[in-house]
Amino acid sequence: MQVSRKTFDEVMVPNYAPSDIVPVRGLGSRLWDQQGREYLDFACGIAVTGLGHCHPALIAALHEQAGQLWHVSNVMTNEPALKLASRLVELTFADRVFFCNSGAEANEAAFKLARRHASVKYGAHKNQIISFYNAFHGRTLFTVSVGGQAKYTQGFEPLPGGITHLPFNDLAALEAAVGEQTCAVVIEPVQGEGGIMPATPEFIALARQLCDRHGALLVFDEVQSGNGRSGTLYAHEQYGVTPDVLTTAKGLGGGFPIGAMLATADAAASLAFGTHGSTYGGNALACAVGLAALEALVDPALMANVRARSAQLREGLGVLAAEHGLFTGSRGMGLLMGAPLSDPWKGRAKDIVNAAMRHGLWVLVAGPDVLRMAPPLNISEADMAEGLRRLGLACAELAQAG
Ligand SMILES: *Cc1c(COP(=O)(O)O)cnc(C)c1O
Repeated sequence: MQVSRKTFDEVMVPNYAPSDIVPVRGLGSRLWDQQGREYLDFACGIAVTGLGHCHPALIAALHEQAGQLWHVSNVMTNEPALKLASRLVELTFADRVFFCNSGAEANEAAFKLARRHASVKYGAHKNQIISFYNAFHGRTLFTVSVGGQAKYTQGFEPLPGGITHLPFNDLAALEAAVGEQTCAVVIEPVQGEGGIMPATPEFIALARQLCDRHGALLVFDEVQSGNGRSGTLYAHEQYGVTPDVLTTAKGLGGGFPIGAMLATADAAASLAFGTHGSTYGGNALACAVGLAALEALVDPALMANVRARSAQLREGLGVLAAEHGLFTGSRGMGLLMGAPLSDPWKGRAKDIVNAAMRHGLWVLVAGPDVLRMAPPLNISEADMAEGLRRLGLACAELAQAG
């Protein structure tokens, strides 16, 4: 069967507008399309394929598990799920793990847990979830409602209630809002979709204090910032603040769909038998690949590479900013980097993405005003330099055209 980008418009729901390029093969930091053109991948399928394409350890884990056992549901447990959960407990603050298949599902579980935890412990009045403008937590009705971008909820009303949105990094607003009625404060340590905006250390520390004072759970959404992308396994480690609940997905499976909610024993206890579930959650194939990915991610040499390549990317973006004036510099953590556009270029992030694509580089936007880069965590110095060179060609082309 012959398929092309045109087929998309004929057979798919029109909720996406994919690029004209249809990738057919990937290896390491590179992709090839149907026409055999090569691209450097600074997108990683939106911060997912953190170990690059077709990593040998992930292929081996997938092949081995594929010949043994795929799926049993949660009526029985399975060895890969138990092994992956054990490693996550060893490597993080968490005592307990719940598996699911995506970031939205991990957050859905976290928000339900927070509601139930408060209702069982303190009563039904304690149901307020506090989140932040420009936050993104997924596309189910609950998660999109907790998220802080009105355009994603428009037309889907009535929305779940008991959700309060505050300005991000605003200490006074947070202090004023958290109270006896609050069951959870939900924070992305680095807002991803919202423009690669890191939380300030003071904001994270205050959220922890206020949650402790008022018996609310602190939930970190590390779906995008987690799994080594920040230069540590989870970004919150660099803030020195521990949550009660952490959600993760994206990079956890290195490209195989898996999500997880990590929790302290106390928080986890509120999701008692029968209160929540998932047919696929803890799927043996997903967990086997997730375990192989996790073992590769915790390699100190890989984390050192993230920090070195992060510095290289920051420096390169600074040079390009000075040279062409499309963006002002960079912000972010590790290899989750945003380049905020300068005033004359505001709203044109997509144009830069398209120009970069013409020069063989795949980058992302984070809203209309920020260029986003999430290259593989194991990218080489030479490939990073080549990606920056291609981005420079794209910037020069656009700057010349005006
Ligand atoms: C991508 C993302 C999600 C949603 O994950 P899905 O796998 O698309 O459901 C949630 N939170 C954050 C911070 C994300 O970046």
